[in-house]
Amino acid sequence: MKIDLLTLFPDMFTGPFSESMIKLAIEKGLVEIDIHNIRDFAVDRHRTTDDYPYGGGAGMVMKVEPLASCIEAVRKRLPDSKIVLTSPRGRLFTQAVAREFAAEEALTIVCGRYEGVDERVSELFVDEEISIGDFVLTGGEPAAIVIVDAVSRLIPGVLGSRESAADDSFSNGLLEYPQYTRPPEFRGREVPSVLLSGNHGEIARWRRRESLKKTMAVRPDLLKGVELSREDVQYLACVGSRDENGE
Ligand code: SAH
Repeated sequence: MKIDLLTLFPDMFTGPFSESMIKLAIEKGLVEIDIHNIRDFAVDRHRTTDDYPYGGGAGMVMKVEPLASCIEAVRKRLPDSKIVLTSPRGRLFTQAVAREFAAEEALTIVCGRYEGVDERVSELFVDEEISIGDFVLTGGEPAAIVIVDAVSRLIPGVLGSRESAADDSFSNGLLEYPQYTRPPEFRGREVPSVLLSGNHGEIARWRRRESLKKTMAVRPDLLKGVELSREDVQYLACVGSRDENGE
């Protein structure tokens, strides 16, 4: 997959993309990341990329011309690249969106700064605005790192079979069950015995129940989108009534 990042702060990506899984994905040729400095596309003497907002108000707004030139330069090489603008006003980035993006051949992510980006960038060039959550960052770079990370690990071959994404939180709509590794006992806390039993049917049942319990406790909103078996429903009813009794 080809990923182009448009930023005023290219150095912010140095660390995140030169370690661990993303580094390996790049080395294996599964992900190719190009970082473009928007300032290189500013044509005036001072290479201006921001200006005061029309209508007044605090802060600066990223100018349309350098961004337009930068996006057009990417588009010339990759006409089909999906162009995403990072923005708190965008569609919420979820695992489902990560899966959509992972199916694209190419993705271009525009990182905003200051008070944001001249609206005409969105109107003329952007396929979609994406938010990574209901909070405000100082810039789109951390959001782009989050998006690249979550999308890359879904590209076949990026995770080894040992780190399959199949059981991750959200993959079946639920949060993941608890995980343990050695030792079997630590400061009096033992690993649940079912996990040591070797009984795969029982382990799968326990994991499903733990996923349901965790999701109900922390993110009950997620349960609406999950296909529940009769056994799941019974289990949830039982957990619910235990909670009501304060058990
Ligand atoms: N004034 C804007 C916030 C600007 S923050 C507003 O209230 O909507 C500066 C830049 O950081 C944004 O242009 C965007 O690119 C990025 N950013 C901030 N919060 C973000 C979020 N939750 N998700 C994605 N990008 C975000």
